[in-house]
Amino acid sequence: MSKDFIDDKKLEDILAQVKPTEEKIETIINKSLNKERLSLEETATLLQADKPEWIERIFKGAEELKNKVYGDRIVLFAPLYVGNKCINNCEYCGFKASNTEIDRCTLTIKELQAEVKAMEKKGQKRSILVYGESPDYDADFIAKTVQAVYDTREDKGEIRRVNINAAPLDVEGYKKLKEVGIGTYQIFQETYHHETYQRVHHSGPKRDFKWRVTGLDRAMEAGIDDVGIGVLFGLYDWKYEVMGLLEHTIHLEEKYNVGPHTISFPRLKEASNVSIDDKYFVNDEELKRIIAILRLAVPYTGLILTAREDAKLRREAIKLGVSQIDAGTKIEINGYSDDDDEQDINREQFVIGDSRSLDDVIYELLSDGYIPSFCTACYRLGRTGEHFMEFAIPGFIKRYCGPNALLTFKEYLEDYASEKTKDVGEKLIQEKLAEIEDEKTKEKIEAKLEEIENEKRDLY
Ligand code: SAM
Ligand code: SF4
Repeated sequence: MSKDFIDDKKLEDILAQVKPTEEKIETIINKSLNKERLSLEETATLLQADKPEWIERIFKGAEELKNKVYGDRIVLFAPLYVGNKCINNCEYCGFKASNTEIDRCTLTIKELQAEVKAMEKKGQKRSILVYGESPDYDADFIAKTVQAVYDTREDKGEIRRVNINAAPLDVEGYKKLKEVGIGTYQIFQETYHHETYQRVHHSGPKRDFKWRVTGLDRAMEAGIDDVGIGVLFGLYDWKYEVMGLLEHTIHLEEKYNVGPHTISFPRLKEASNVSIDDKYFVNDEELKRIIAILRLAVPYTGLILTAREDAKLRREAIKLGVSQIDAGTKIEINGYSDDDDEQDINREQFVIGDSRSLDDVIYELLSDGYIPSFCTACYRLGRTGEHFMEFAIPGFIKRYCGPNALLTFKEYLEDYASEKTKDVGEKLIQEKLAEIEDEKTKEKIEAKLEEIENEKRDLY
């Protein structure tokens, strides 16, 4: 295989050579708190810091960084599965070509729009479209489905930002998606370990490690600089995989001057016709370490924690640095319009852990003092990398993100919230307003909140 930018031996060697000490850990955490991205060696030092008191220190550092940089907003979104046909045989996935037990289907544009309407009725404003890999799902098809989502509007609202999770494309393909205005293009490498990659990808185009790992380079070349990376934890050693994510980040930074907009860290879940080898199983404590270390290693990226995880773990992990979660999630095809709470393993890619409604998740976030945000202002104003803006521009959160979170949340309270969520939510908005020191800013936000009460929408 020709060389790519992931050198397994280099990453394993760094992990083997570092020797964590209390002092080193302290210096590294302080570097993150100064908003600098960590090096491979520094990240390896945090990964190898196994003593309980060191782990505690890393958790504290990550919490402090999250509060300092991102504050108390959590961005909400929901995935939408467009089609589950697939020509690959990924050992871990229910959609793999060899699985004859699942129903294969692709939403028609009419069905897709019914799904979107059902999501909009619950209050969703941001979605990620998910596709298997099939000649049917080429760039033209993906572009058409994205456009159909943007064109769908329910009474009170619409999906305002569409992200994509699909197979890697060529440069021409990405250009078509740029034209229809996608948000983030996500591709998870699954594992950065070449040997493991070959072992779990039995057949199909996805077997080509290099084509996949350079998939986001081609997106960048096509002008899409808002990209997301990820690892499917449970396939190989988690410490190595975090090093892989960082090496990928460094590669994008060095070559295109911009790192990934988001990092995802799904864990392997039970799926139709999949038997999972638990050799590299990542437990809850390890997942929390992954999140905290990623938070510190790449302070400017958004971290996404999905509903694959259960409600309890999500609640604990959010404070360590997560910036986006999905809520009210349905991953079976036609799942939102069916509105059936039962999960059916033969209709979905894997089994989810948190099947609560959007309103229930929001209620819990509020109880924990977070402001749920449906903000899409950066994307709509042509500013790519919303999390990067928050991170890089002093005062940006105070001036834009905080107020926009309040406004989009107020829309939710007016249009979709249950009584109990509305009660707690209105109180929290008042508390947040009281915290704003600048009188002029406060007045402006109050005026806009009033406009929302008077039926105006989409203010930012
Ligand atoms: N088919 C495209 C691909 O493979 O890149 C995109 C969508 S795939 C449906 C989305 C992601 O789901 C994969 O990248 C993988 O990380 C994750 N996934 C697959 N099987 C899983 C499982 N059993 N448990 C948890 N996540 C899984
Ligand atoms: Fe297909 Fe993606 Fe599932 Fe692999 S992970 S079998 S490519 S849907």
